[in-house]
Amino acid sequence: MKRMGVGVSFGKILFKNPNIWIGKNTTVLPSFGKRVEETNLSALFGAKKMEGEAGNFRDSLSKTPPAMSAPYEVLLYYKYARLEDPDAYAADHRRLCGDLELRGRILIAKEGINGTVSGTKENCRKYRESLDSDPLMQEIAWKIDPEEGHVFPKLSIKVRDEVVTLELGEEDFNPLDLTATHLKPAEWREAMKEDNVVLLDARNDYEWEIGRFEGALLPDVPSFRDLPKWVRDHREELDGKKILTYCTGGIRCEKFSGFLLQEGFKEVYQLDGGIVSYGKDEEVKGGGYEGECYVFDERLSVPVNRTEGAKVVSSCRHCGMPGVRYRNCAWMPCNAQFLLCEDCEDAMGRYCAKVCKEVDLMSRAAVVGI
Ligand SMILES: [Zn+2]
Ligand SMILES: [Zn+2]
Repeated sequence: MKRMGVGVSFGKILFKNPNIWIGKNTTVLPSFGKRVEETNLSALFGAKKMEGEAGNFRDSLSKTPPAMSAPYEVLLYYKYARLEDPDAYAADHRRLCGDLELRGRILIAKEGINGTVSGTKENCRKYRESLDSDPLMQEIAWKIDPEEGHVFPKLSIKVRDEVVTLELGEEDFNPLDLTATHLKPAEWREAMKEDNVVLLDARNDYEWEIGRFEGALLPDVPSFRDLPKWVRDHREELDGKKILTYCTGGIRCEKFSGFLLQEGFKEVYQLDGGIVSYGKDEEVKGGGYEGECYVFDERLSVPVNRTEGAKVVSSCRHCGMPGVRYRNCAWMPCNAQFLLCEDCEDAMGRYCAKVCKEVDLMSRAAVVGI
């Protein structure tokens, strides 16, 4: 059952399900059975979203910029480690986060920790101090964003086999033992300009859809666990090249770049701290990145490129107008998250597809009819 994660099903619903995609001039009838089944899966498993794990699933919301005061913080962090007893570690962590009233999602495994939490500035500071003083958690590269409140509805701490789900099985390894060379943002920016370089996005399709490095290879995969097969199917695009791979915060690339080395690729590099750190770097200012960076919390995406060359790469599903305004489909069994401009919402309602609107209106009429 674990393999049927929300990420796969939701990823399809989100952007890629051809059954519910309505092009500019075409309407494609969906197969209801499949979609409802996927949606129910999402409801059953709840919103278990982490970097590298899955998509996003929740009610619509409007994006509001952080207030000037920003009394809260959002922390994004990970640490590959060797945890003897992940269950005990998780129990301690639950107490710690509970005391500090943090919310968010944390995965703990023998190979380490992967988390993103929100809390008051003061409590986030205490949390960082606590982990920084833990011998197992030394030198975490914290990514800190100011916010005006929590960006998660609750706290979820889970113990898993892996902190990112690559599912290599027998070939699995700890990135402490195998990972590619890290490039700092400035080194990355330079390397991007070299010949014979290929930038390889290690994220899911619905993530790079709203933003990526210019010219990057964008694997058409709904989930991280699909990447190894994609690499094996696309060797000819990577062989003999210097591979620069990147993800949101760096955790997936620690593993993925190790996998690439294990697969025999010789020159592999990873972006230290991922896109998030790249966007915060004062020297490169996110240069060479286009669009926004998908994040796994209520913000949905964060800006990256602070240079003059910044541009939007995503657009309204219905009219194609550039933008990053997300809404969830108003037909509850669908509830797909999609990009919708204000004009289209005014004109046709908050539906991802014409058919969702029709079914929703029909079902409402039926209820009234009773
Ligand atoms: Zn539109
Ligand atoms: Zn819909």
